[in-house]
Parts: sequence; C-alpha cells; structure tokens
Amino acid sequence: MEYLIPFNKPYLVGNEWDYICFAAENLGKLSGNGFYTAKCQAFFQNRYGFHRCFLTTSGTDALEMAALLMDIQEGDEVIVPSFTFVSSANAFALRGAKLVFVDSHEDFPNLDVDIIEPLITSKTKAIVAVHYGGASCDIEALKDLADRYGAFLIEDAAQAINSFEEGKALGSFGQLSAFSFHETKNIHCGEGGMLVVNDPNLEKRAEIIWEKGTDRAAFFRGERDKYGWKDLGSSFLLSELNAAFLWAQLENLNAIQERRKQIWEDYLGWFSGLKKEPNLLQKDYLEILEQAFQGLGKVEFQTQPGNYHLFYLLFENAEFRQEYIDRLKEKGILVVFHYQSLHKSEFIQKHQPKQFARDLPNSDRFSDCLLRLPLFYELPDLT
Ligand SMILES: *Cc1c(COP(=O)(O)O)cnc(C)c1O
Repeated sequence: MEYLIPFNKPYLVGNEWDYICFAAENLGKLSGNGFYTAKCQAFFQNRYGFHRCFLTTSGTDALEMAALLMDIQEGDEVIVPSFTFVSSANAFALRGAKLVFVDSHEDFPNLDVDIIEPLITSKTKAIVAVHYGGASCDIEALKDLADRYGAFLIEDAAQAINSFEEGKALGSFGQLSAFSFHETKNIHCGEGGMLVVNDPNLEKRAEIIWEKGTDRAAFFRGERDKYGWKDLGSSFLLSELNAAFLWAQLENLNAIQERRKQIWEDYLGWFSGLKKEPNLLQKDYLEILEQAFQGLGKVEFQTQPGNYHLFYLLFENAEFRQEYIDRLKEKGILVVFHYQSLHKSEFIQKHQPKQFARDLPNSDRFSDCLLRLPLFYELPDLT
C-alpha cells in the first residue's frame, strides 16, 4: 500500500549525481580508497578528532572489521545489549565469540553500565556500547570499566553521527567505533559505513584487513614494490560511487541536522502536552497522531534528543501498540517498531540456550512497546 506519509524517505541533497559523474569522468577510479573516500575520511578525522577512519561497505562490515582487529577467538566473550540491531552481536558471533547480553536502562534503551561488572569474566574480550538514537551511553563509566578489566571498548555508533558527550564526539571513546550510512540514517549513501580506529597500535593492521588482507594500500603509496597476502581480511572498501554520494551529504550535514532537530522538537513540544506552536510540522498531522491515542492507556515518549535520529513512543503493551499502528495505517501514515530482544532470538536459542534463558525485562519491554514515528528531512513537506 502507498502511504501518504512513509516512515522514511532517504534525502537527496542534489549534488550527489554531480560528484558521481565527476568521479566517473575525471578521476578514472571508481573502486574504493580514492579521491572521495579520502575527502570523507579527512572530514571525520578533522571535525570529530577521530584518529583514523576507513570507509566500509556498511556499518555491519565496520563491526566485522573490529572483530577481526581484536582477534576474537572461539570462546571469547563479548558483552552487548540485547535491545539493538543484529549486527552489534552478529559481527562477533561470526568469529566464534560467546555473546553475553546486558539489559537496557528502565527508562531508555541504552545499556545499563551498573549491571555489567558481574558479567565480566577472564574471557571477556570486549564491551559493545550502542548509542541508541545517537544518545550517549554512560561512555566514561564504560571506558573505565573496560580499561580496568583489560577489555576493548567498541562503540556501535551506527546511529550516532555528530553526537557529543561533554564536547567530545561519540565514536572517539572506544579503541574502535563503527558508523553506518544506510539510507535510514541521518547521513547516508544508500549502503555504507565507517570504521574508526582510535588506538594507533591497531591502525596498520586495520588497513591490511580493509584491503582484503593485503598491503595494497602501502603499495599504492609507493612504500612497497609489490603487494601480497599478509593477514586475514575481506572486501571492506566502499566504492568511490558511494563515497562521492556521501561527500555531497557531508557537505550539508549542518543543514540536515538542523532540520531534523526542528522536527524532533516539534514532536517533543507536542507530546509533552504544551501544544507548542510547531516549527515545521503541520498541526493537523500532529493532531492525528495524538487523537489515535484514544483508549490506549498511558503513552510515554522519548525525551533524550540524541542526534535527532529517531523519535519514539512507548505504549503499555504490544496490543495497544499494534492498535495504534493500525489506526495510523488507516490515515495513510506508516509507523514502525524495531529490535526484538536478541537474547530471545531463534539464533541464540539454538546456539546459546543459557543466554536465551536470561531475564532482561527492560529490553523485552522496549521490544514490545516502543514505536518509532516518521522522522526524515522532507517530512514537513508531506504533512
Ligand atoms: C544501522 C545499524 C547497524 C548496521 O548498519 P548497516 O550500515 O545497515 O550495516 C548496526 N548497529 C546499529 C545500532 C544500527 O542502527
């Protein structure tokens, strides 16, 4: 069915096609690690103080690179929230890690740092901090904890572009961090991602893993007279076509973020009951969203802005949430929920039954009750 208001519409700045054409016609190189890749990587390094960036084909791939770089072995343990996207855990399962799931805070999906310490063992190799909606985890406390036990801190910053904690960019705290430029994220190139290497000791090997396990990057810099197989690796480079697209988006990052902020504040202003005059969204639209609450109990709403990646509502139960989805569908508005507790997934039930049996009530509540409203650049033009 066609929705009057879709859940997401990937935004196009306009310059994407010019840059792709420029790459095709003038640069003579469309594979990875070229002109636009260098521009995008330098942008992140300069603007956010990341040590070294590598564009990848997805955020998932960036996490898989991180797993290779940490030398995860069969039986190593990785602590990860249960309420997150599959890739936050799957990247480590691929290397044979045992996943140890941690619950969310009661009032926000980010993992609860206070309950992690008893989960740490001599086999704990890493803690994965997922910044939900670009809102920072208790990242300093997590860093202290990881350091104290000699574990890696990995940031799954897939949703967290341009987010800061006390003035320091998310993605700069962990030894390794992953970003995503999937079409559902604030800044996108269809499919794309980036690994951030903040620990200089990991930088050389990261480049080799990135280049299919070879020292090709050093060869192209003229540092070798041939290149060969040095280590495990894979095909992680983002094509220059996607990097050119991404550059057009990055040039407009400030404007995109500002617009998302205005929309986010319209939602907050409306649902907090102040009926604040919206900045951009139509009152009619906001009224439809609100009227559909009738008889569905108490509805909570997100109050942490993060980087304006998403805005969620929280229903009392899954039935009320489904009724709300159905009511809005009738009005031509698509709203969706996401993340089913990973510790209760079919995969974990089959392979790690002990994790499956654990009780993580906050994660389950977000799985059953959380609902995301549309939030994209062109939304105000449709309402
Ligand atoms: C989007 C997302 C990913 C995966 O990124 P892709 O680029 O789609 O592979 C991983 N973790 C989280 C938290 C995400 O939101």
